[in-house]
Amino acid sequence: MSQHATAHVSGHYIGGEWIDGHGSVTFESENPATGESLATFRRGTAADVDAALAAAEDAFEEWRSLSYIDRAEYLWDIYHELRDRHAELGEIVSRECGKEISEGKADVTEAWHMVEWAAGNARHPHGDVVPSEVAGKDSYMRRKPRGVVSCITPWNFPVAIPFWHMAIALVEGNTVVWKPAEQTPWCGQIIAEMFEDAGIPDGVFNMVQGYGDAGSALVDDSRVDTVLFTGSAEVGHEIADTVGGEPGKLAACEMGGKNGIIVTEDADLDIAVHSAVMSSFKTTGQRCVSAERLIVHTDVYDEFKARFVEIAEDIAVGDPLEASTFMGPAIEADHVAKIRSHNELAVEEGAEVLVDRFELEAAEIPDGHAEGHWVGPFVYEIEYDGDLRCLNEECFGPHVALLEYDGDVERALEIHNDTPYGLAGAIISEDYRQLNAFRDRADVGLAYANLPCIGAEVQLPFGGVKKSGNGYPSAREAIEAVTERTAWTMNN
Ligand code: NAP
Repeated sequence: MSQHATAHVSGHYIGGEWIDGHGSVTFESENPATGESLATFRRGTAADVDAALAAAEDAFEEWRSLSYIDRAEYLWDIYHELRDRHAELGEIVSRECGKEISEGKADVTEAWHMVEWAAGNARHPHGDVVPSEVAGKDSYMRRKPRGVVSCITPWNFPVAIPFWHMAIALVEGNTVVWKPAEQTPWCGQIIAEMFEDAGIPDGVFNMVQGYGDAGSALVDDSRVDTVLFTGSAEVGHEIADTVGGEPGKLAACEMGGKNGIIVTEDADLDIAVHSAVMSSFKTTGQRCVSAERLIVHTDVYDEFKARFVEIAEDIAVGDPLEASTFMGPAIEADHVAKIRSHNELAVEEGAEVLVDRFELEAAEIPDGHAEGHWVGPFVYEIEYDGDLRCLNEECFGPHVALLEYDGDVERALEIHNDTPYGLAGAIISEDYRQLNAFRDRADVGLAYANLPCIGAEVQLPFGGVKKSGNGYPSAREAIEAVTERTAWTMNN
């Protein structure tokens, strides 16, 4: 554990200093696999957010006046630290959010990929030259930073997602105030220490620990120019609505999904079963892109079902630090209750339950982990009906419906697209016409063919449509959210 996280109670990083802040309330980081407390943190208040925003505002003019290359230098230091400490940080991610160890490490890898992408962009900032229609004039588009950016992030990628937001915002010349998720303050602490160690100028990066009320203060304040949010649709749409009412302010919100995989009549079932297992159960189903709807052609339905069910019955749930574990625990007790209520809802709505390992057998729970938040796969089949809540509401757990369809790809797409969400989806097929139909007409931001519907590459925009996102996915498009354009015209 890092120097600060072992301290009795860890505080906030504001204006280049570690401070206790204004509140006296503290909260714990809990290991979801054991229930043990990892460290204690101060819960930020609106006054702490106020101080952080003041620091960010003060630091902005000097930071924006640096070159792209100079700003990126600080990020390159962090890039090296993420790489050098890969194994150690991966284990911390696993301990704090319960992901099995290879996924903990992958979270750190994705973070350094994003830092590399954003800092690398400093070597080729780009813009458009737009020739004037009048002789003797030159014109081009220039980007400038928007100002103070607040970043509000979820717990499930506690290292990668903060860097998706912050690396781009900082290289583009904005200053940042970040609130980590309440479940992963230890990762928040370590990332703040990295910025401190990199020597980033005071006030350019600020971190306030805390709960949703601190997040809300980071949305409401008029000094904030852009809110970068990743999390649930409930919170994200509230933020987008609040910010939408303020002229000149922008909220980029990446939210949840009710993602589906289509398996066509000619699908390679090895690929189909593997893709469905990975998409439904990796990270214990707690990914925004996890598949909760498997839409399978009637010709292959029985065979697919038998093979998928067999694996779900057997999947290794256990200690995230053991290499043999496939699924770790759910993040917290409240989330176990939420997953239970989704399973019960499916049954109430007529589900035929195929696998119910929600309550693990005592023998399946690793020694010394009785207080962990254990859940196992829940698989059901149900006749498709677009009005069913269980087919429309995100569970965010290892909870998945099998839906049988008959007919062509148009019928599969009709079912696939019939949710309010539009984040990720996949099609498993050997027929290029069906693949192309999915590519062109699936209502998703992330479409995969003959692959699981999870996974991200930082150079590709990562984000959704409909209820899942409001148009600023990560990477290149995220630059739009943290910069403004000026059309510059000059008389020669
Ligand atoms: P969440 O409950 O929406 O929380 C996300 C962040 O918002 C947390 O830092 C949270 O603070 C903060 N927050 C809560 N209420 C707020 C408010 N009223 N104003 C401002 N901030 C507020 O989501 P989560 O449970 O951490 O993460 C799971 C959700 O994130 C799922 O729906 C998942 O699909 C989605 N997700 C989406 C993506 C994507 O790229 N599209 C990626 C990962 C996850 P607290 O921690 O204190 O509540």
